[in-house]
Amino acid sequence: MSAVPLNPTPPARTSELSVTLLGATGSIGSSTIDLIRRSRDRYRVEAVTAARNATALAALARDLGARFAAVADPACYDELKAALAGSGIAAAAGEEALVEAAERPADWVMAAITGAASLKPTLAAAERGAVVALANKECLVCAGSLFMRRAAAAGATVLPVDSEHNAVFQSLSAGTRADVKRIILTASGGPFRSWPLEAIRQATLEQALKHPNWSMGPKITIDSASMMNKGLEIIEAHHLFDAAPEEIDVLVHPQSIVHGMVEFRDGSVVAQLGPPDMRVPIAHCLAWPARIAGANRLTFAQMTTLTFEEPDEVRFPALRLAREVLRTGQGAPTVLNAANEIAVAAFIDRRIGFPHIAALVEATLEASAARGVLREPEAIADALAVDHTARSLARDLLPEIAAKAI
Ligand code: NAD
Ligand code: MG
Repeated sequence: MSAVPLNPTPPARTSELSVTLLGATGSIGSSTIDLIRRSRDRYRVEAVTAARNATALAALARDLGARFAAVADPACYDELKAALAGSGIAAAAGEEALVEAAERPADWVMAAITGAASLKPTLAAAERGAVVALANKECLVCAGSLFMRRAAAAGATVLPVDSEHNAVFQSLSAGTRADVKRIILTASGGPFRSWPLEAIRQATLEQALKHPNWSMGPKITIDSASMMNKGLEIIEAHHLFDAAPEEIDVLVHPQSIVHGMVEFRDGSVVAQLGPPDMRVPIAHCLAWPARIAGANRLTFAQMTTLTFEEPDEVRFPALRLAREVLRTGQGAPTVLNAANEIAVAAFIDRRIGFPHIAALVEATLEASAARGVLREPEAIADALAVDHTARSLARDLLPEIAAKAI
């Protein structure tokens, strides 16, 4: 493993930090806003964005005193404009408006848009050298090498918000990078952790949406049930920490108290613990390298057990697929991410069953390899072209996979 390419240079602190929230109306966005509201004098909100909930976005923008608000869907522009009338807050819509929000001069940007749709705006923030608090993992899976390279070249600071990666980031500060033996990401195991394969195959949408420990947006909740989330996180860790695939281990830890660990050469294992509340890693990124009040505290006396077990790649084939694409490299992770986004959306729309998610991803990977689509993306446009092709392959394969008895 080489040096951590996170360029950990603390932002120059003036009396207040200007912040932009990409994906302000979501789960991570709301947790971030909760922390900002508790220290209003420390933060000034520059821009906020949402997919299409213009009314909720306008209310947030007004309450936070933002200067700019953007919705991704152009059809929602009129509603946003009307809801912001008289506020002095600029309204915009469309993909370019999300990039404009990211380009506005905020010191710190929360990247919490779901999916590869986050790539362009997050990259825009990184390319102007901002501190990017990276919640979105799909953009690293879609175009990780490119993203990290461009962020480093621009002198951006990338702070991991994902709880496991934030834990690893904190644990890494206990030693030097050269002395790291392995990185351990913990996984709750999701709602189907102890279910037999047969039962997982019959799992309903409602069962998959019931995460035992974390309250999150729908896409990542389904990814947690399939354990694709952990697969994406292995790829995320590979890019964030410049770690080889074999240096990244996953351990199922149902209590979600130990979020990540780093094992050093001398046998020491340094871990970060905390309640399963995203406000803890977000607070770490908001104040970094200082600390602010986060969320609830851990009550050790109420903890009876902390357990760890090996993940099961047979019941959770998404983990195997993620390991495979990391080995294949080139455009394979981009295809995996794109196909998974299509598969999860189809599962949420009840067009495929739960086991069809991994099946569709695998079939799309095979079809992409057969068509020579797996070339290494050299530019963002290449990554987006692979992403686009993979999505249409996945859509084409969907009826055939949906009809399959698995
Ligand atoms: P969410 O669905 O609750 O919110 C997503 C936000 O992005 C919303 O503001 C939504 O309006 C916006 N959005 C969605 N699709 C968009 C699009 N195509 N264009 C523009 N905006 C769009 O999701 P979340 O749970 O907050 O997760 C956000 C990201 O953070 C994901 O990448 C997820 O993997 C990551 N993450 C979330 C958690 C968590 O606890 N929720 C933990 C770790 C990582
Ligand atoms: Mg995580």
